[in-house]
Amino acid sequence: MQKKLPERVDFLKQVERNASFEGVWPVSGLERLAEAICNDRGEVAARLKFGIRAGTPCLDGHVQADLELRCERCLDQVKQHIESDFRFGLITSEDEADLLPKEFEPLLVSESEQSLVELVEDELLLSLPIVARHDDQCSEILQKHKQNDEAQQETHRPFAALKDLMG
Ligand SMILES: [Zn+2]
Repeated sequence: MQKKLPERVDFLKQVERNASFEGVWPVSGLERLAEAICNDRGEVAARLKFGIRAGTPCLDGHVQADLELRCERCLDQVKQHIESDFRFGLITSEDEADLLPKEFEPLLVSESEQSLVELVEDELLLSLPIVARHDDQCSEILQKHKQNDEAQQETHRPFAALKDLMG
């Protein structure tokens, strides 16, 4: 089993330490994400690396999870693999955002501990598809509906009945 991510860290201290974190967090512990999807089973995995690149304190990361979303066609659950890579440039005031090289997304950090887990959650929320769908076949429920429709069409053929009468 993979170990849990630390919930909160001091980002700037982790930059000084060139710290890396690799771990997981239960989906049930991510309220906003759990609300956006079908159920809160499973966990999200993240790799996070603090350091200095191009003279900029930064945080590189990768997050991934297999989440159960709602299929917009059959309304049943559809499992989707969600993943995202990101590179944040850490800034301590809004003004610094303009000075960042453009490969960095600005991330405002405080001088104290802040949530690592929320950052992972935000990244996953941003990576959720706008609509989710089963790739080819939808759920059995929908398949059954279809079969029922077809069966009903079979029995509603007036001319077939007429033919029987005449025969
Ligand atoms: Zn479906």
